[in-house]
Amino acid sequence: MKTIYTLSDLRDWKKRTRDVTPSIRLGVLGDPVTHSLSPEMQNAALQECDIAQQYAPFQIAPDELETAIRLLGELDFAGLNLTVPHKIAALAFVDEVEERARKIGAINTIVFREGKSLGWNTDGPGFERAIREEFSVDLRDLRILLLGAGGGAGRALAYQCARENCERLVLVNRTFEKAQVLARELAAYFSGPRVLGPEARLEAIRWEESALRTQLGRTDLVINATSLGLAPLDPSPLPHALIAPHHMIYDLICRKAPTRLLAAAAESGARGANGLAMLLHQGALAFELWFDRPAPLAAMRAALG
Ligand code: NDP
Repeated sequence: MKTIYTLSDLRDWKKRTRDVTPSIRLGVLGDPVTHSLSPEMQNAALQECDIAQQYAPFQIAPDELETAIRLLGELDFAGLNLTVPHKIAALAFVDEVEERARKIGAINTIVFREGKSLGWNTDGPGFERAIREEFSVDLRDLRILLLGAGGGAGRALAYQCARENCERLVLVNRTFEKAQVLARELAAYFSGPRVLGPEARLEAIRWEESALRTQLGRTDLVINATSLGLAPLDPSPLPHALIAPHHMIYDLICRKAPTRLLAAAAESGARGANGLAMLLHQGALAFELWFDRPAPLAAMRAALG
């Protein structure tokens, strides 16, 4: 069983981790965090590169995040990852934010350097690599429907799709206003003409079955960037009947056992993939930011099983 640390451990860190070797210098902050596979993957990378440090999970509630990031910096950590629900809030608690991450409004990686904390976002490029690996397609050729567009990961993916000039992007979010705000931010990326029909290239729609049905008829790639599926009993974010054989379904949830969404995709004859490839690539990019050297992809992939 892996040890999960808390804010109270951080307050008494030297004592609590006196017997831990190699020392913990990296970690992931989340609430919940038990599901995270980043510790297995990043510890495999550290071992492969003979770096005498460990990466650990931290259970940190939203109202503890600011203090946790400050303490981790003071404790001389090398870097951090952020998972649900901290990616957006964390932006306010770092000293500097890389330009793309600032636009996205969310960070998934922190680098501590020379007494400063620097925020980055590797989710978008990690996602792009994952889609190429899983489906042998490029984002620019696709009509994409993004569920969970208002979350930290969803915003990063939407920006990536926009930068890659994808054919169409439909933004869907439980809290509709967040999808509308994002659509306004991304409008300039979609102003150019493309080959496909008269439909708008960028839309925010309400999370309603009839609206989804209309859009899914002209969608190639469906992305689940909601947290639905993190718990094994969570319902599928899409009704089974709306999934068709021509769809590619990318579910960001990182579980080997199929989520309800991926099980429905398989039953409908659609291609589907879980979030492990994205986890791998966003994690490799974070490793490269922390250590300024290529990440050992094969060892990291093997650790994810
Ligand atoms: P956030 O907490 O920032 O966002 C959560 C998103 O899920 C929001 O869009 C939220 O909508 C939506 N949501 C939450 N509950 C429901 C619900 N019951 N019904 C519909 N929508 C819901 O989380 P992140 O963006 O950081 O992460 C989202 C998911 O992506 C998580 O499952 C995470 O594990 C996964 N992820 C995977 C990665 C990978 O490498 N594979 C990388 C990053 C994330 P609203 O705005 O209305 O609250």
